Amino acid sequence: MRTKIIAGNWKMNTQLQTAKELVTEIKGMVRDEVMGEVEIMVFPPFPFLTNVAALLNDSNIKTGAQNISQFNDGAYTGEVSASMLTSIGLAVTLIGHSERRQYFGDTHSVLQEKVNRALENHVQVIFCCGETLEQRNANAHFEIVKAQLMESLFHINESQMVNTVIAYEPVWAIGTGVTASSHQAQEMHAFIRKCLADKYNANVADKVRILYGGSVKPDNAKELFACADIDGGLIGGAALSSRSFTDIIKAGAQ
Ligand code: PEP
Repeated sequence: MRTKIIAGNWKMNTQLQTAKELVTEIKGMVRDEVMGEVEIMVFPPFPFLTNVAALLNDSNIKTGAQNISQFNDGAYTGEVSASMLTSIGLAVTLIGHSERRQYFGDTHSVLQEKVNRALENHVQVIFCCGETLEQRNANAHFEIVKAQLMESLFHINESQMVNTVIAYEPVWAIGTGVTASSHQAQEMHAFIRKCLADKYNANVADKVRILYGGSVKPDNAKELFACADIDGGLIGGAALSSRSFTDIIKAGAQ
């Protein structure tokens, strides 16, 4: 059985004090209320990574980065390298979030390089993919997601893939309050698993965790996480409240 992952993407939110308060509350609530097995991750803004990681030192909640550079260390002003993450003890990053694709020029080939830098530095990748509303309305959603995987992720080897997490996040559901129905989400997750089986093999397809992201809230989490191919969630807005994030974690605990 695949252990579910609940991951909170804080995006460009919080200040140092509110970040510390949020993570302290999450840690306490998780300790007191979460009983089953579940993997928990938070992705705060870069300046707060060490503070948040230090507060989570005595917990089983992992801290990760929202992005890394496609370059190694060097003359790349404003960038943060994968090796910088490992140097502060972090080993997981998001790659390919739709906001990075939309606003920061993260093309297929840039994302492929980011995946490579992460893996070279033994940083686990949570690779985000998903179609826009126009693409779904044009019935192109399967081919778009497949292309995102083929172009930027599926060059990695079998053992790297098994340790990688895929997050399906339909762009039209991110931050909009509109969630994909559990049927729509499950259908895409099953398709992604088939892509994994076709490219690698059934064993890899069975092992890779595929998260759903897009307006997950405490009241829709249980139904989504009950789907056969949904292995947890990547949570945006609802991860900024300790109460709702913990309730979503509880929905994912098995
Ligand atoms: C996200 O940004 O990854 C996300 C899923 O956001 P939200 O939950 O707010 O839709």
